[in-house]
Amino acid sequence: MSNKVEHCTSCGVHLVEKGYVKFPCPNCGKEIGRCKSCRHQGNVYTCAACGFQGP
Ligand SMILES: [Zn+2]
Ligand SMILES: [Zn+2]
Repeated sequence: MSNKVEHCTSCGVHLVEKGYVKFPCPNCGKEIGRCKSCRHQGNVYTCAACGFQGP
């Protein structure tokens, strides 16, 4: 499975602008992407694979 994360998990924006982060889901390890603005706003993210929600 090489599902590359290219969109913000929170708002769905394409991750092209610098400042985004990608990290593995703490629960299942699937990669999660967050854009710069969602990081700054502290938006909740939801793992697409397992439904885990985190800050
Ligand atoms: Zn976002
Ligand atoms: Zn997960």
